[in-house]
Order: sequence, then structure tokens, then C-alpha cells
Amino acid sequence: MGRYIGAVCRRCRRENKKLFLKGERCYSDKCSVDRRAYAPGQHGQNRKKISEYGLQLRAKQLAKRYYGVMEKQFLKYFNLAERKAGMTGENLLRILESRLDNVVYLAGFSSSRVEAKQLILHRHFLLNGRRVNISSILVKPGDVIEIEPGSKKSPKFKAILENFSSKPSPMWLEVDKENGKIKIERLCNRDEVELEIEEHLIVELYSK
Ligand code: SF4
Repeated sequence: MGRYIGAVCRRCRRENKKLFLKGERCYSDKCSVDRRAYAPGQHGQNRKKISEYGLQLRAKQLAKRYYGVMEKQFLKYFNLAERKAGMTGENLLRILESRLDNVVYLAGFSSSRVEAKQLILHRHFLLNGRRVNISSILVKPGDVIEIEPGSKKSPKFKAILENFSSKPSPMWLEVDKENGKIKIERLCNRDEVELEIEEHLIVELYSK
């Protein structure tokens, strides 16, 4: 499995958006987007006109970075979204939102999607009663995710739950913070996606 190994905050600065990749730091005044609101690199402060292709590319990069998905997998999701009934762009966002790591993060059981990925990889979660270690699993209505009972007592989880479980969870998830459980009530609606993105640009990019 490939993964990005560059400086994390550069990705937010490149997109000029907070992508919440570093947990607590993202909510503090140390956030690089708040401190340096321009693109990274030598020419980062030079404004330049962006082409139509550039806009489409940026939209795709934004979604990939926000959800922590590599190119190959992103294309797989796009193909899946195209095969489903309805708007491809909305389907794509719904698929990305259904990733197990995203759900764990939205429920407040990790400080970031990156941390959710790590916790899942280290088998700290059960999906429908079975241990899982694949963060890209797509959850469906009725699925139940829970923190592995042994892990729940660990100081790490206690700290995470203390700091992040007060975060409001989306309506499509039923979150039982006390018992470390999440039930997928339904799939998310377009207006429940927090990411500000014009998903039609991604569809246009892949339709060339
Ligand atoms: Fe992005 Fe978080 Fe870094 Fe801010 S602190 S730039 S939100 S990763």
C-alpha cells in the first residue's frame, strides 16, 4: 500500500484549505494554513491564473488528500461511482465518506483520518464483531463498528475519547461514545459532506 511521506501541512497549504491531517495541532494556532495562507515553495505567494484543467486537477487532489487516498484507489472509487445510479460526483463523495477510517474519525474515535488509519491497521476496531485491519473497507447501513474492548481501556484511547469524543457526529452515524460503538444508520447525503468541493470538476477530469 502506497502512502504519502512528504511534509503533511504542505498538502493543506497547496489546497489552501485545512484538511485536518495532524490531529490536535489542526485545532490550535500552530496550524500552517492559518499562519501562512499561501501555497508552499519559492513561488507560493505569486498568484497565477489557473486553467480549467488546473481547477479539475486541484479538485481531485483536494479529495484525495482530504480522505488520504492514493491515485489508484481513487480511480477505483471513481469507476465504482460511475457504475452506480445517480450523479457520479455525489456517488464518489458518498463512497469516500463510507470508508472505515473516515467513519472512525467522524465519530470522534481518532484525532485525524491519518490516526484512524493507524488505529485500524493495528486492529483496535471490530466491524460487526470481527477484528479488521483494512481502513479502506466501505461500510454500509446496519454495520456496527466498535473499539476493541481491550484497546478501549488503554491510555491512548482514553486520551482520544477525552479530547475528541465531544465533537458532534454526523446524523448518518449513531455514535455511542460511552461504549465506543458506531452504528451506520444510512449512507451520508451530499449536504452532510464537510469538505467544500466542486465534485463535478473531478467527473470532468476523468471524463476527458
Ligand atoms: Fe493542515 Fe492540520 Fe497542518 Fe493545519 S495543522 S496545515 S489543518 S495538517
